[in-house]
Amino acid sequence: MDALRLLSRSTGLKAKISKEPPQNLPSASGSVISQNGEDPSLNRKRKRDSEDANNDQVPQATSNLLSEDEVRQFQKRHKIKIVDLTRLQGASRSEESRKLRKEQSRIYPQPVTSFGQLRTHYNVNPALASNIAEQAYFEPTEVQAATFSLLLKSSVEEDQREPDLLAIAPTGSGKTLAFLIPLIEKTIRAHRQRQDQAEKHVSAIILAPTKELVPQIVNEGRKLCSSTGVSITAMRKGMKLLEGHPASDENQSSEDDFEQKTEDKTDPSSRPLVKADILVSTPLSLVHALCPSWEEDEPDPPHPIPTIETLVFDEADVLLDPLFRSQTLAVWSACTSPSLQISMWSATIGSNIEELAVSTIRERQKRLKIRRSQRPQLLRTVIGLKDTSLPTISHRLTYTATESGKLLGMRQLLHPTRSTFSNGNEDTTVPLRPPFLVFTQTITRAQSLYDELQYDIPASAGGSSRIAVLHSSLPDHARASIMQQFRQGKIWVLITTDLLSRGVDFRGVNVVVNYDIPTTVAGYVHRAGRTGRAGRQGGVCVSFYTKEDIQYVKGIVNVIAASEKLRTSSRNGEVSGSNAAATASSVTTTGIQPWLLHALPNVSKSAKKDLKLHGVESRRAIHADDDEKTKRMKRKSRIGTQSGYEKREVNRKRGAVQASLSTKGKTPQESEAGAEWEGFS
Ligand code: ADP
Ligand code: MG
Repeated sequence: MDALRLLSRSTGLKAKISKEPPQNLPSASGSVISQNGEDPSLNRKRKRDSEDANNDQVPQATSNLLSEDEVRQFQKRHKIKIVDLTRLQGASRSEESRKLRKEQSRIYPQPVTSFGQLRTHYNVNPALASNIAEQAYFEPTEVQAATFSLLLKSSVEEDQREPDLLAIAPTGSGKTLAFLIPLIEKTIRAHRQRQDQAEKHVSAIILAPTKELVPQIVNEGRKLCSSTGVSITAMRKGMKLLEGHPASDENQSSEDDFEQKTEDKTDPSSRPLVKADILVSTPLSLVHALCPSWEEDEPDPPHPIPTIETLVFDEADVLLDPLFRSQTLAVWSACTSPSLQISMWSATIGSNIEELAVSTIRERQKRLKIRRSQRPQLLRTVIGLKDTSLPTISHRLTYTATESGKLLGMRQLLHPTRSTFSNGNEDTTVPLRPPFLVFTQTITRAQSLYDELQYDIPASAGGSSRIAVLHSSLPDHARASIMQQFRQGKIWVLITTDLLSRGVDFRGVNVVVNYDIPTTVAGYVHRAGRTGRAGRQGGVCVSFYTKEDIQYVKGIVNVIAASEKLRTSSRNGEVSGSNAAATASSVTTTGIQPWLLHALPNVSKSAKKDLKLHGVESRRAIHADDDEKTKRMKRKSRIGTQSGYEKREVNRKRGAVQASLSTKGKTPQESEAGAEWEGFS
């Protein structure tokens, strides 16, 4: 296939996503809800989505609701678990009563099995329904099927309050749409109720951890908001949220500036208000807007924003991780409306983060003196199995012994003739094709790997323009431009840090390479999840590990083994397993052999914590107070096979060759047009 065409699929510039049913919805079960938008076993008929969406009449909710038994079947089939956390809490004396409490806390709301039902059952605004139909998605994914009904107030139950929600669903399973659609509908209904109020104000905030994720959410949102009267925007420097608020500091060092600012920079009173309904931001950008003098160590209380009725945390576990926690909590506490509804989304929300979230919700309710009877439900929805990767992704763990072995391995990956991949269950050997997304432990290592590989791509294949490095030290405009070029398929190999491990949706990524092992199990799940999105088959995650990494590999091996087991069971149509470790121990038919699991050492809690905070020691930066031995070890682990002088010379010569080629009129891009991907050899 034409590599360029293949890559340009991720731009979204061309046609919409296929109307064909996805090969495999992104659930762990791997089964589609149905071929016609409904659970096949339930044998119910409905109109096509587009017909429903284009019908301006308010459709009547059809009476074909599922019985509780059918909902239970549906949830079982799609590995959906919805739990009322309020009912789950409280001490249970015996194992039996704990089980009973667990069972009693499960709830079985109607799933939304087709987008058409949003109109018929939830009276969703026709313009919004038509925007959804425009996207040409065949049917809701599991997380959408499970959460739409929780978050959308049904037309029959207008006075019902939406619950606070923790939603855990696999990477690439459509969580963005799952929170955007109900939020936009809620905003439309709020507009209808306060028609007299001409001035727009922000009524919802979506927080996301990186600058790369914010515009992606805004873009998705804009497609859905068209002609609905709802607007969505990214937080910009120098803007203020409410009249009377200070404007965010334009000189703040590290935060967003996605769009060019045109307003007067000198007079704070003339700085514009954010006029959108829905604001998407990183936590730090917003906290600076609410309190320009905000400091991590001595946080001032931020200005309250009582107009916020909905708060969404995308990648919630990162936002509540110690790294972002104080900023996120500052924004949360600034939202003082008693009817604030909060939802948190991620593929991985551990029990400690869940506890923090629940206790913060409870404390807030007490602080605001919200009576028990007025508190919303607090629900948790889990789709699939904990700590597993998508069944659509194949995994390969490669032992390279040393750091230089990794470089060799990386170069082999770039040459399909030598780089073949067997997925364990099948005999086929498939060459790995770009785009590649390559993760390293630090910014310095990402830059060094880029320096090393920059000239590996011959001019005839696009030369060094095909490879790029992206990390948080780059200026914002460079980051945005690299993201755009990668999405457009101009860049084939993108080297990065964990900055891109979360949330970003490059639909066309074929290979994720963990050049350096991720430092947590969740890190592995998220990095791998940059491929195989929206049910796409054929994604591969390659992880290199050295002698030094052996002590840390067990967690990753468990994820791979559980995911491969899931892959096998979904192929065989089975639904099995309850947690990663349990499934991992019985794997025999996949790339990960049981002996490897048993041979690998367990990691102590303190080692895990240290790894998470600082990464593998030899790959950390050299510090002045490191002893000589540590410095030697760190130097040895640096990426690169040549001395700096040699590298400069080689690069200079290659650069000269490239320059002479382009002066002869053959730009790398031109010579590549229409070429088949045959690697860089
Ligand atoms: P997540 O946040 O769960 O990682 P995203 O929301 O980024 O996933 O969605 C991943 C991809 O799936 C996006 O490209 C999105 O357009 C697509 N998608 C969303 N909903 C559906 C659907 N119902 N059917 C098919 N594709 C979908
Ligand atoms: Mg997401």
